[in-house]
Amino acid sequence: MRKHQILTIGECMVEMAPRQDEAYNRNFAGDSFNTAWYLRQLLPSDDQVGYCSAVGTDGISNAMLAFMQAAGIATQAVRRIPSRTVGLYMIELANGERSFSYWRGESAAKLLAEDRAFLSQAVAGQNLVLFSGITLAILSEPHRQQLLDVLRDARASGTTIAFDPNMRLRLWPDQQTMCDAVAKAAMVADIVLPSFDEDGPNYRDETPQATIERYKASGATCVVVKNGPGRVHAFSKDEGSVVFDPVPVETVVDTTAAGDSFNAGFLAARLSGASMVDAMTRGAFVSAQVIKSRGALVPLQI
Ligand code: ADP
Repeated sequence: MRKHQILTIGECMVEMAPRQDEAYNRNFAGDSFNTAWYLRQLLPSDDQVGYCSAVGTDGISNAMLAFMQAAGIATQAVRRIPSRTVGLYMIELANGERSFSYWRGESAAKLLAEDRAFLSQAVAGQNLVLFSGITLAILSEPHRQQLLDVLRDARASGTTIAFDPNMRLRLWPDQQTMCDAVAKAAMVADIVLPSFDEDGPNYRDETPQATIERYKASGATCVVVKNGPGRVHAFSKDEGSVVFDPVPVETVVDTTAAGDSFNAGFLAARLSGASMVDAMTRGAFVSAQVIKSRGALVPLQI
């Protein structure tokens, strides 16, 4: 089979996860990176999975790059910005509930779309490029526009663009700005992978079908509306409307990266020519494993 090149674009952060003894484990995670990490596990070894972002030149930036490389992820598209470093978040546990504190104000990744030539070079020749609403949220408005311009050009040259709206209101000045930016970004995407618990309230979509129609109207040829444990509603140009019911997971431990890992399973299957139902089955199979363990990156039983 043909070798594929896949690139995901966004911010990977240092994650400080509490242990029993008040010490913390240091991990690396971030939505677009999590999807790359799972794609790397799911795809044949001769497919290339790369990450596009920016980091600093300090020790923790080097450690993050080394982690990516050890996971088999190509890092040529990670810019180095000496005056910056990587962002960090800390998970706090109180009575079993997780809350997050973030330090990402000056993270290098905010400049990932600063250099148009670098970005164009990064996406050139890729079969599939994925980005998300979080990727957009961290960029300045001119850089956001630059990223969309580069992706539009890539799409015109035959690259499939996948987009997960991943709407995080606290990363945006207000809801309207977020909804406008996500809607604009979706216009450059072939595949849109929203979650109904975010798109429903933000766009006042009454049903997942309404979410599908909105993204079809903006030019998507494939839309998959995830809904936690609920029914997945999807559409593809070739197969029309399709629904899929995930097998319920009884013992959910941590839903971090449920959507990111679903996206990886779904996209990996589609790259190998799977039908929509088979690809959603794969996505749900992967995310079911992920939510049964703690943390964003869970080694898979493939
Ligand atoms: P996101 O993390 O983007 O909000 P969702 O919560 O919608 O994503 O979940 C993504 C996928 O993970 C779902 O489509 C489903 O396959 C799986 N999933 C999530 N929660 C459960 C659950 N409780 N039981 C079974 N599968 C689940």
